[in-house]
Amino acid sequence: MTEKTGRCLCGSVKFKATPKKAEVGVCHCSMCRKSSAGPFFAIDCGDSLVFDDETTLGVYGSSEWAERGFCNQCGSTIFWRLKDGSANILAIDLFDDPGELKLDHEVFIDEKPDYYSFAEKTHQLTGKQVFDMFAASQESK
Ligand SMILES: [Zn+2]
Ligand SMILES: [Zn+2]
Repeated sequence: MTEKTGRCLCGSVKFKATPKKAEVGVCHCSMCRKSSAGPFFAIDCGDSLVFDDETTLGVYGSSEWAERGFCNQCGSTIFWRLKDGSANILAIDLFDDPGELKLDHEVFIDEKPDYYSFAEKTHQLTGKQVFDMFAASQESK
């Protein structure tokens, strides 16, 4: 895919990033739902994320290996990323023009509350399956 621009609600955090695929993922884990007030709709941009302006970017270390970015002026959720910067999962709705997208996968499906579910057919992974996949990809590095 081509490089795309995005910004937070107030416009003070601005970035460019290149999504790996036109595939949106959703995380239902309790941390994502707390920090984004709902399931986290996001797109994998690998290590392509570059900020044009990050003056108001706040970063919160939510676990040993990952951190979450937000705008400390308007509160927009910006990203979930590995602390080593190798994986940047950006909130899809920040993009100015994301192009045509497909809802591809849902992770932490075992933490999804019962009060909603999506009609799209997606690849669904439990939290354990996500951790197992992550461990396997780290071993192969
Ligand atoms: Zn903002
Ligand atoms: Zn999550």
